Amino acid sequence: MPSQSWTLAVVNQKGGVGKTTTAVNLAAGLALSGEPTLLVDADPQANATSGLGVDARTQSHNLFSLIQARLVHPQATIASEILTDTGRENLALLPASIDLAGADVLLASQIARETLLRSLLAPLHEDYRWIVIDTPPSLGVLTINALTAADGLIVPVQCEYYALEGLSQLLQTVDLVRQHLNPRLEIWKVVLTMHDSRTRLAEQVEQEVRKFFGAKVAHTVIPRNIRVSESPSFGQPVIEYDPRSRGAQAYLELVEEVKRYAASCAR
Ligand code: ADP
Ligand code: MG
Repeated sequence: MPSQSWTLAVVNQKGGVGKTTTAVNLAAGLALSGEPTLLVDADPQANATSGLGVDARTQSHNLFSLIQARLVHPQATIASEILTDTGRENLALLPASIDLAGADVLLASQIARETLLRSLLAPLHEDYRWIVIDTPPSLGVLTINALTAADGLIVPVQCEYYALEGLSQLLQTVDLVRQHLNPRLEIWKVVLTMHDSRTRLAEQVEQEVRKFFGAKVAHTVIPRNIRVSESPSFGQPVIEYDPRSRGAQAYLELVEEVKRYAASCAR
């Protein structure tokens, strides 16, 4: 039984910035390092689910069915037995499904809708040292649930034009969640993704982001790497698909950085 359990949400309401890639590789890397880890797919697109080679349509339980169950039985939580076995040591999955897109509507009229995921996950801290939540590209009810359930945030920022766009809105939302729902919420790491060291743009974006976020920016920068973009079609995190690739090496470094951060703020 893990002595301490951390919940991390991977957030940025922009799409295509590397959230899912980061969530999948972070979770897989933590598991690989020997620490029991649960990956929660909270995006109706279910890319984290398929990224582990799991077919969302064939799973008997998923985040949406468990949310529905909780609305019927307000005390319902998640037993680790119903989580999806990913076939990897130390790595379990709570899959998403397309009907999760209906969560906003389903939850619109529910009391305490923002704390639903936190309550559902509560007993799982006994079994997992890490819970990593992948979120959709919006600040809707699913992302708010992830922010409410999390100790720390991992914010991938793509090294592209307008990288910082929308981040002030994210920071405002984080502040609101901290004030009203989850006082311990903290940004752990801002992660520069898809960095192309051959371009001046990437260097400029990196400087800008480091100026804005200071020490919150992860030392590790994730390079743009073809092996990273190939790996999801094989249902594998890149650290498994091609562990020696630059993308995989960077993600493994990020895992170590996150573990060091956890050790530094151990409760
Ligand atoms: P998000 O979850 O924020 O929408 P994804 O993780 O799905 O973003 O990444 C968007 C696209 O970019 C995907 O096709 C993914 O494979 C690709 N990608 C992500 N990170 C990298 C990288 N470091 N190098 C190359 N391609 C990447
Ligand atoms: Mg995604």
